[in-house]
Amino acid sequence: MPKPLDDAARKQLADRVNYYRELGIHYFYRREPADLPASSPVPEISAAPPSSPHLDAGPGAPMTLAPAGGEPLLHSPLPVIPDKPAALKLIREEIGDCTRCRLHKGRTKLVFGVGNVNADLMFVGEGPGADEDAQGEPFVGRAGQLLNSMISAMGLKREDVYIANVVKCRPPGNRTPEKDECDTCSPFLLRQIEVVKPKVIVALGAVAAKNLLAIHDSMANLRGRWYDFHGSRLLVTYHPAYLLRDPRQKKEAWKDLQMAMKVLGLKPPAKAPQES
Ligand code: SF4
Repeated sequence: MPKPLDDAARKQLADRVNYYRELGIHYFYRREPADLPASSPVPEISAAPPSSPHLDAGPGAPMTLAPAGGEPLLHSPLPVIPDKPAALKLIREEIGDCTRCRLHKGRTKLVFGVGNVNADLMFVGEGPGADEDAQGEPFVGRAGQLLNSMISAMGLKREDVYIANVVKCRPPGNRTPEKDECDTCSPFLLRQIEVVKPKVIVALGAVAAKNLLAIHDSMANLRGRWYDFHGSRLLVTYHPAYLLRDPRQKKEAWKDLQMAMKVLGLKPPAKAPQES
């Protein structure tokens, strides 16, 4: 028998449930391991966090939220907005002039996300930097230029993909966003993912990977495999900012992108991208 929640934990859970309901997330249930095709050409695992609420759904299923070990808490159906731009606009309106976490204090522009609402491929980074904060668009600085190169190496254009971050406001001094900041902001990202419904999500760096998957592991262990994520397939690669600091890892990142290309049916270019 699970231990009953005390008042503080019950209130915290109720606040969180209400918060997710405001975002249109209505199903809450325990995550089950994903069924993945046995014939898959790459190793596959599913994310199964030991604790902490986590989101999961089978292919085509509505997004769900689950306290570990719990039964579904809410059963009302998720409202369906078939018009993707309208759905994203609604999420943006819900965010508003957000002050839900302390990151709003240093914000110039909130960085919502950008790209093709029907994209098969979505990149998720950590949070805005100085350039992104100034322009209100993700990945527009040096790391963004490298991401653009990575995208074109895959045979795509930036306009073909969707790009967003775990947190939408710039952490001061480009520090790593803290857990409570990620927890507060990431439901908006999850709603964006739910609307775009990409076939493949590429988590850029450990912060994106750990927040999406709720797995705390090294990049070495997180990379090189597929995760089932609400009907999308997710893989982890290095953040472009890290690749700028350590260009030797570009080869490894390219291996990750080739995994994505295979699933997306993209033809590899004649030769691998430049190393610098
Ligand atoms: Fe709101 Fe997210 Fe910005 Fe925090 S980071 S203030 S939750 S939009």
